[in-house]
Amino acid sequence: MWWCKRNAAGGRLAPAWGRLARLALVLAAVVCERLWPAERRPLLARGHVQDACFLALHAIVVIPLMTLLGVGAATLIGGHAQWIELRPAQNWPGWLLVPLTIVAMDAANWLAHYADHRSDALWRFHALHHSQEELSVLTSFRAHPLMHTTGFLLASIPVVVLMPGRAIDPVLITAYVCVGTLQHANLRWTFGPVGRVIVSPAYHRLHHATDNQAVNLGVVLTIWDALAGYARFPARRAPLTRTGLTGRPVPVEQAGPPRPVLLLLADQLAEPFRTQT
Ligand SMILES: [Zn+2]
Ligand SMILES: [Zn+2]
Repeated sequence: MWWCKRNAAGGRLAPAWGRLARLALVLAAVVCERLWPAERRPLLARGHVQDACFLALHAIVVIPLMTLLGVGAATLIGGHAQWIELRPAQNWPGWLLVPLTIVAMDAANWLAHYADHRSDALWRFHALHHSQEELSVLTSFRAHPLMHTTGFLLASIPVVVLMPGRAIDPVLITAYVCVGTLQHANLRWTFGPVGRVIVSPAYHRLHHATDNQAVNLGVVLTIWDALAGYARFPARRAPLTRTGLTGRPVPVEQAGPPRPVLLLLADQLAEPFRTQT
């Protein structure tokens, strides 16, 4: 999902095989969406095609941008802010330190998402993600490239503080990213009892409802929502909520006659920079 690379670690992004694993998960989710869709729609529905363009943008622009940011942040912290490193933590056992760091990263991701909804300036970039009216696993990639910066840097902090000079196992980072990617799938899956702790597609869909985006801000864990009073757990057979933004403040592919996808993509990316009336 948009936030997915907020997994700064010693090796800031999932490695190449991790990205392939994520791609395999996306393909598997697409198959599941064909078999058990929450909303039945054509494979090449406008929303799916447009979000596939965002997937390409993600590979071409976002991954290199995050790599650059990661290297820049590491250099900056290494040179000027070593005081934030919690040295005693280096003696803590891995079974304690690694889960603690991942949970702290998830909290940072939650805070970044909260800020996306609370700050007008950040919301202008985040609105593109919420503009999708046909959610699918590909919506995980529907995000403005600049939206990643605050979250990525914020999520770097727990890693720098708790695990300076060490890397989290790429398998764990990949698993974290994959769980986060699945949340946009066009599936009714609630994950049963596990869904009380891990964000499920049905849980995250409530965050994309047209009438209330203030709930279910969790990225992978639901506990931050529960602590903040923002958790709304989906009922198994509840009517499906409509998704998107009321009034379509961001240009969307579902409006009017079809437009060339790349022109529309450029239009969507330019939206945060337009003067608002
Ligand atoms: Zn949001
Ligand atoms: Zn989302």
